Amino acid sequence: MTTFTITTTQHKQCIDITDRVRKIVRGMPVTNGLCHVMVLHATAAIIVNENDDPNIGVDLLRALDRAIPDHANWLHDQVDNNAQAHIKAAALGPSEIIPVRDGDLLLGTWQGIMLVELDGPRTERRVVVSVLPIP
Ligand code: ZN
Repeated sequence: MTTFTITTTQHKQCIDITDRVRKIVRGMPVTNGLCHVMVLHATAAIIVNENDDPNIGVDLLRALDRAIPDHANWLHDQVDNNAQAHIKAAALGPSEIIPVRDGDLLLGTWQGIMLVELDGPRTERRVVVSVLPIP
């Protein structure tokens, strides 16, 4: 199990973390298995999606904003004003599982692993990568 940190620079943003995760997986003594990637925060998420066109991430954030607007009378906004981030993080989920084959991540041509910041910017978003071997 390995943890790394990401600094986010915008309030809402998708950040490609595929290379960071791939480097960790390649450094582990696992040939075939499963890679679990989890962000340790309640206002961020992990997704697998296209990382070639950065507008996919922008469109995702716009779609989420339409479905879950900021400050739409959310009860949690009375606490720390970030209810939209919690709801979006819950909808997207905090983790993904990616197959590992021949010691490397098995992703489609257009697939990457993204950290979705929903209440940034934050100096430190922690991501845990666990690789489980499959005999
Ligand atoms: Zn909150």
